[in-house]
Amino acid sequence: MIDKDRLIRTFCELVKIDSPSGEEEEIGKHLTQKFSNLGFNVVKDNYGNLIASEEGSDPLMLSAHMDTVEPGRNIKPKVLNDRIVSDGSTILGGDCKAGIAAIIEGVESILEEGIPRRPAQIVLTREEEIGLVGALNLDYSQITAKEAVVFDGNGPVNTITGASPTYIRFDVKVKGIGAHAGVEPEKGLSAIKIATDMISDFPQGRLDEETTFNVGLIEGGTVRNAVPVQANFGGEFRSRSSETLDLLQLQIKNTVQKYQEKYKKSKIDYELETMFHMFKLDVNTHVAVSVFNILDDMELKPVVKPSGGGTDANIMLFNGIDCIVVGMATNEMHTVDEYVVTEDLIKTAQLCHGLLKKAE
Ligand SMILES: [Zn+2]
Repeated sequence: MIDKDRLIRTFCELVKIDSPSGEEEEIGKHLTQKFSNLGFNVVKDNYGNLIASEEGSDPLMLSAHMDTVEPGRNIKPKVLNDRIVSDGSTILGGDCKAGIAAIIEGVESILEEGIPRRPAQIVLTREEEIGLVGALNLDYSQITAKEAVVFDGNGPVNTITGASPTYIRFDVKVKGIGAHAGVEPEKGLSAIKIATDMISDFPQGRLDEETTFNVGLIEGGTVRNAVPVQANFGGEFRSRSSETLDLLQLQIKNTVQKYQEKYKKSKIDYELETMFHMFKLDVNTHVAVSVFNILDDMELKPVVKPSGGGTDANIMLFNGIDCIVVGMATNEMHTVDEYVVTEDLIKTAQLCHGLLKKAE
């Protein structure tokens, strides 16, 4: 049986431990202790991700990330009637600690019942929020699970991520020619002018139902009264269509070429890097069917929706692990209005419980 009070207590305990991306040391210690107490063999891989394993074959991976976004320090959770909120000055940290709390309660409750069940391998990653870095550096040689349920979705547990995009970052560096802005501007070539011309040639915002494009960074110049020598800008685009991704990469290349041609004395360098690959849920995998079955037992209908963001599942899938991403009861993630619906949190823990119980 899920213990509601214990679940809420566990959740509040977790969010009170600061863990912005890159600072997961303390939460890692806390969770190592927790899962050791529950009888797991807990190891930290070289990157600091936690892998808590149980004896037995064909374990089911339950995964969530330990880091949170800012403002995420000194979080003071408030338990209201039907939900848990922050005091309004920080995020709540339900992303992804609602997931972790649900996993702990799922495991704890099934251990108490002492019934036959499937072993679990709990994988808690670092630095998910800054580009799935923990999952990228996860020591997959220590992962024996072939399938995973990733708790990192918005909304109730039956909100299933149907697809998430490939994410490509780009950085452009423009070098112009410096000159005194008042005395001899004719001798200069403004890097800022070139950069902004390029940016206005780039697409912007939502390009189609499955594609977005954003220039999110710009910097350049050093003083007001000099023609700027340097201007840099960067951004990212995402799509669930490979053709669109290819076209956008080509467009960036062509734009760079066009301006390099136009301003022969400038030097324009650019860099493109795929940070993660798209994820498409295969509803026929064993893990997806298991989740759908338990939801059915709980009288919940799966709501399969595409997502514009990535999760660790994008990386894990690439490493040969079948994944399904489920909701973890938190809403308005990455804002100070973030809240966890208590009833949904209980259901998330119930799903964990059900998965370990049924899919022996
Ligand atoms: Zn998350």
